[in-house]
Amino acid sequence: MTLPVRRFDAIVVGAGGSGLRASLELSRANLKVAVLSKVFPTRSHTVAAQGGIAAPLANSTEDHWHWHMYDTVKGSDYLGDQDAIEYMCRRANEVVVELEHMRLPFDRLENGKIYQRPFGGHTQDYGSPKMAMRACAAADRTGHAMLHTLYQQNLRANTQFFVEWMALDLIRDPQDGAVLGVTALEMETGEVSILQAKATLFATGGAGRIYWATTNAFINTGDGLGMAARAGIPLEDMEFWQFHPTGVAGAGVLITEGVRGEGGYLLNKDGDRFMERYAPNARDLASRDVVSRAMTTEIKEGRGCGEHGDHVLLKLDHLGPEVINQRLPGIREIAIKFANADPVRDPIPVVPTVHYQMGGIPTNYLGQVVVPEGASKEAVLPGFYASGECACVSVHGANRLGTNSLLDLVVFGKAAGEQMVRDIAALPRPHRNLPKDAADASRARLARLDGATSGERVDAVANDLRRAMQAHCGVFRFPEELVKGVEMVKAIAARAARTSIGDRSMVFNTARIEALELDNLVETAMATVVSAEARKESRGAQARADFPERDDANWIKHTLWYREGNRLEYKPVHLKALSVETFEPKVRSY
Ligand SMILES: Cc1cc2nc3c(=O)[nH]c(=O)nc-3n(C[C@H](O)[C@H](O)[C@H](O)COP(=O)(O)OP(=O)(O)OC[C@H]3O[C@@H](n4cnc5c(N)ncnc54)[C@H](O)[C@@H]3O)c2cc1C
Repeated sequence: MTLPVRRFDAIVVGAGGSGLRASLELSRANLKVAVLSKVFPTRSHTVAAQGGIAAPLANSTEDHWHWHMYDTVKGSDYLGDQDAIEYMCRRANEVVVELEHMRLPFDRLENGKIYQRPFGGHTQDYGSPKMAMRACAAADRTGHAMLHTLYQQNLRANTQFFVEWMALDLIRDPQDGAVLGVTALEMETGEVSILQAKATLFATGGAGRIYWATTNAFINTGDGLGMAARAGIPLEDMEFWQFHPTGVAGAGVLITEGVRGEGGYLLNKDGDRFMERYAPNARDLASRDVVSRAMTTEIKEGRGCGEHGDHVLLKLDHLGPEVINQRLPGIREIAIKFANADPVRDPIPVVPTVHYQMGGIPTNYLGQVVVPEGASKEAVLPGFYASGECACVSVHGANRLGTNSLLDLVVFGKAAGEQMVRDIAALPRPHRNLPKDAADASRARLARLDGATSGERVDAVANDLRRAMQAHCGVFRFPEELVKGVEMVKAIAARAARTSIGDRSMVFNTARIEALELDNLVETAMATVVSAEARKESRGAQARADFPERDDANWIKHTLWYREGNRLEYKPVHLKALSVETFEPKVRSY
């Protein structure tokens, strides 16, 4: 049976902040663009972003893009590529003002300028104790405001949306490896099509669902990573996962760092403001890896709160109801709903919770996917681009600063869109011929599922994967646990190939979708635990008990994990910036 083929100039897989910023650039250039999303665009996970988007506008405190660059390099624990970081920080003001002109409803200061709040790790004057007010915010619903703004602009630009379509696999040209599009399943009908394009961008977001406790939505299953890995493309720096310090204990729902930016702080069971001991200058606004480790240490050493001593408290009642209601209304709602604590009176029980992947599909700062080929460690893969959380540019290195992700989405979403416009213009008009076996991999996956008469339930396997990752690859990492974790994920991968689904219907079959997502979770988890086991040092979000120090002599390098043979390679970090001096690695303290 031949599958229907639809042809476009460009395909964007993902309608979050990053995908929509890229598609806007493409549609405005009058290209024929298809944007695919598993959910309605404004339900993409960007909608959940709370605290703000970084830009050194200097509306409330003195600020400079070079200070922002310094903070980002330091925050990355010197694993971030400094050319990409310079590019991002230099373009921050421009992209935020563009959003403002698109009518994003930012909060305002008395003088009408965009309201900005402090956030962890963002400082003035190259790490001085003075915090920079750099996070531009729309109350505690910045991502919601951004996503709706970008969606409306895309409607205006006539972007074509394929809503509730799931991309399944990448299609590559066997001649030169160029990417020619994707296979995709329309959920409403269960039918599979080929979507062909001259340029394909992945903006599929994060994959926090490989862990048991996460702030991420159910759709964050690492589909872009799985598709890339199955197509032979390596994944970069997957060992680095950010644990956000303040997930609601027991629920995982996020309490934005903006709460601490507004003046909230953490307490242990003795009422001790413990961050003063771990980060005497920045205290509760130290970078996230530092705060998460401090909290975990307090809990481990018996100073946790509650009946089981398994969380700490976030106190903000001293801010008063007015500030809480005006600046943090969503947080008050979340705390009441998920922790039964009204922050106007009660502290919120919180624990570090998996939040963000620093690694992903390797790209340069123009959004082009780059892979080792011949003598080059970073050859451009024709026709393939990635941006947003699924991409590793790498501006976040081993640890991301809060508010730098929303910035990454719009800076690199825009850059990728611009590059795609240039590349498409340089290509011949007709599309290339598709290989005969273009859809075979997807067909085989679906045929296995539809033909399996017995096998394990998908949710049982997925839950075991999440438990294994939580237990073996968490905030602190132990050598034996990591080795065991690799073996467990391998065993779970074998089980994932033997699942079966009870429901074989075609129309909106969510069981089939979850089974297909499981393949992507497995690839992502495998990349994570194998890369973490191999990196014999502590840096940023990777804290190893057996190698507690950062090892700059041997480990200032990016990991590349290949699915085939679970193989690892390494490539150098770009220490050279675009136009300014390198920030040399030094001891990171806050
Ligand atoms: C609770 C929370 C609060 C946050 N707050 C902030 C903040 O204040 N500031 C900040 O900078 N960062 C914040 N972050 C991080 C930031 O929100 C995310 O990193 C960012 O929104 C990810 O955007 P994205 O465009 O990469 O992907 P997403 O917004 O996750 O979108 C992914 C898109 O891909 C689609 N997709 C996925 N797989 C497929 C497939 N197979 N086929 C078709 N479509 C697919 C989805 O449907 C979706 O449209 C927060 C994160 C969380 C979880």
